[in-house]
Order: sequence, then structure tokens, then C-alpha cells
Amino acid sequence: MSYDKEILNEEFFRDRVPTVTLEGKRRWMYAWQPKGKFYNMRSVLSVFYLVVFFGLPFVTINGNPMLQLNVVEGKFSILGMLFWPQDFFIFGLAMVTMVVFVYLFTMIYGRLFCGWICPQTIFMEMVFRRIEWWIEGNPNKQRALKAAPWNMNKIAKKVLKHASFFAIAFLIANTFLSYIIGKDALLKIIREPVSMHFGGFVALMVFTFVFYAVYAFVREIVCTIVCPYGRLQGVLLDRNSIVVAYDYNRGEPRGKGKRPHEGMGDCVDCHQCVVVCPTGIDIRNGTQLECINCTACIDACNHVMDRVGLPQGLIRYASENEIAKKEKFKFSGRMKGYTVVLVLVLVGLATLLLTRNDVDATLMRARGQLFQEVGTDSLSNLYNLTLVNKTHGEVPVTLKLEGTTGRIRLIGNEHSLVTPAEGQGAATFFVILPKSEIKSRETKIKLAIYKGGKKMRTLKTIFLGYTE
Ligand code: SF4
Ligand code: SF4
Repeated sequence: MSYDKEILNEEFFRDRVPTVTLEGKRRWMYAWQPKGKFYNMRSVLSVFYLVVFFGLPFVTINGNPMLQLNVVEGKFSILGMLFWPQDFFIFGLAMVTMVVFVYLFTMIYGRLFCGWICPQTIFMEMVFRRIEWWIEGNPNKQRALKAAPWNMNKIAKKVLKHASFFAIAFLIANTFLSYIIGKDALLKIIREPVSMHFGGFVALMVFTFVFYAVYAFVREIVCTIVCPYGRLQGVLLDRNSIVVAYDYNRGEPRGKGKRPHEGMGDCVDCHQCVVVCPTGIDIRNGTQLECINCTACIDACNHVMDRVGLPQGLIRYASENEIAKKEKFKFSGRMKGYTVVLVLVLVGLATLLLTRNDVDATLMRARGQLFQEVGTDSLSNLYNLTLVNKTHGEVPVTLKLEGTTGRIRLIGNEHSLVTPAEGQGAATFFVILPKSEIKSRETKIKLAIYKGGKKMRTLKTIFLGYTE
């Protein structure tokens, strides 16, 4: 196995990006496949993740997609519930909740998300890199293939690898698009002539080329330079954060040779933790921005410790305080503060979700109108009602006045309204109140909206009018 000594330079590693050479060129990462319990666990989790990722667009709840984020039309379906631009305040609060959660989670668990859940890591390490190992062999063979002249063997391997990468990128792009426009719209793009869905076809190809470029060429640069979450690590982590860490108290002074050895630490300086690292760093230099907590170095080092007869865990999940002062995990004041904020926004979000209606309604008095006499004993006011149906089905509604003997007279002579699926309904109607119930110039009235026999919501408004 080989590794790049430049990366290991303890003096300069913080001044350099591991993916760039001293001459400013791209340094290609040839990571070895780790073997160990963490890699096995990540493999199992990635199978589950891939099944969920590719299967979710086909799952529906009550006829609505389980997850669809149609940013083009501003329609969202989450857990089968439809959300519209009118629900923007729910999204606003959901975003705040997510940001606080990410802060809190990162403060406690470091970049656990990057190594175990992030789609970029799962696809890169568990799908594309495995294909690369399978076609081109281990990093030594990959280096040899790169240096070899363009013969039939090299051409065949490169074509097979890039064709496989492109096919999977195309599959990912299809799935990704179905999360935006829905599976039915995607199937139309696939089945019908390109000319009928030119925009959708272009989007599909753009996504395909972007995914192909990311996994075939850009790779770990997404994590080390592009991803904003990765860039935030410096301000989110503290000495209590649990990260993948090298126990320098136990490992140093490092050096080759048999263990135990008087005056030597447990690190046998074998560089196994470096050659498996997909971002090309040496974790023995300390926590670094480039570390995606993929645990490959833990597996590699545990394997070495087994071979030399020392306990596992020279590289492990641990906080800086745990390693430096042998302190147990401490729930810091900053963590407590974020937890309180998180609980508050979660309660707010849950309240908004539980009190959210399938139909939004806006009631306004007609402009420029005061009141009219109706017969000798009543007055009327004219109102406009707008209804927004957020469901996939028609919603018939009925209007009723509450707390009065007055009545409603809909323009159009109907007593019930039907709001079309995913559309708007509007009604104009008179509210007629007996003069005996009008005590001042402004009378507060309540209008209830019923769906079937169930009251959905009550609207309050003012009835204008006076009697001699
Ligand atoms: S240092 Fe270890 S955990 Fe971090 S990216 Fe490299 S191999 Fe993964
Ligand atoms: S794998 Fe373990 S023993 Fe080998 S260099 Fe890394 S930390 Fe030291």
C-alpha cells in the first residue's frame, strides 16, 4: 500500500487541502476498502437507505405522495399531508427547527450525519467506490491502470466504469426528479415523446450529468469544500463534541516495532488509518474539517491493534475532553440552551401542524357597501369568501351563522359550495340579521364552515348597520 507523505506532514497539514498538490493540481484519492464492524454496519444501513431512497416516490398515504417537494409549483406533500404556499409559516418554523436540530446534533455528535446518513457519502462510498474497486481493483491496481498506456484492457475498464457510473447517475436523477414533480409526471416524461416534455427531459439530463460529474470526478471535494454543513464544523464543534478521534495520549510516541515497548505509545505508525481515508487526511493530526466521520480509520486501526495484540479503540468515537482529561461526556451550557430552543420550536411546529386545516378560508365584507334594508325588520351586509382547497379531492362545504337567528343568502341561490381539488373556491353572500339583534353600529358575527357534518373552522367578522 502506498500513501502520500505530503499529507502526513504534521507541520503543514492545516495549511493545505488534501485534495490539492503543492503544484496546485488535483490529488486523486485512492482509498482502500476498510474491513471491520463499522464498515459492515454502514453497509447494512446503506442498503436500507437505498431501498428507502428509490422506493419512497412510489409510496402514497391517502392518495398523496409520502414525500414530494414540488418547488416548481410550490406544492409539498409530507407524510401524505399537502402543504401550499399558504403554509409558508409552517415551513419557516420547520426550517428553524431543522437548523437548531442540526446545531445541537452536531455539537453533541460531530459529523455523524456525514458518515452515516448523508446521501453523498452513501452513494460515493457504498455504491460508486465499490463499483470502482470491482472494475479497476484496489488502489495499487488503480494507480497502475492510470499509469498504463491506453491499451484494450484500460479502455474496456474505463468505459465499463464510466458507463456504469452514468447509468446509476441517470437512475438517481430519475428518482431525484420524482421527488420534485411526482412519479406520475416522471413516468409521463419517460413514456411520452420527448417533444411533449422537453423541459422535463432537459432537467433529467442536467441532473444526470451533475450526479455523474460529482461521483466520477468531484467526489470528496463536495464534502471538503462545497458542502456548507462541512464548512460550519469549525464553529459548531467544541471540546465535548463526540468525533472520530485519535487517542494521542495512548498512541504517542508513535513508532514501528513490537508492542508493548518501553517508552513507546500504541501507534505502530503503519498508516493503515491514512490509506483508507476517503478524504486523504491523517486523523492522528487531530480533528480536521475534511473528516466526514466515516469510521474507515477506526476499522483499519482496530484491525491493526488486533494483529499487534493491543486493545482496540486507539482511534474511536470520543470527545477531545475525554481523550485529553479522561472526562466523561458533559452536557454543556450551550447544549442546554439549544435544547430549550429546540423543544420550544418543536412544540410550536407540532401546534401548527395539528391545528392546520385542509381548507383555508378568507372572509371579507364587500368593498363600498354599507348595509341594506331587507323588508321592515332586517338588515343585510354583503361578504366575499375565498376558499383554498389543499387536498387532492373536491371539498363540499356548508356555511352557517353562529350565535344568531340571522341567515345567509348566497348569490347563486346555493346553500353549499364545492371547492375544486387543489384549487380555489369563492362565494359572495348576504348575511341578513334581524334588527332586534343589532344593538350598535358594529355587530360581531361568527361564520362556521362545515365539511359534511363536521365543523372545519369558524371565522369572525363585523356586521355594519344601525337602527333608529
Ligand atoms: S479521518 Fe477517519 S473518519 Fe475521518 S474521513 Fe478519514 S477515514 Fe473517515
Ligand atoms: S492505523 Fe492505528 S496504529 Fe496504524 S498508524 Fe493509524 S493510528 Fe497508528
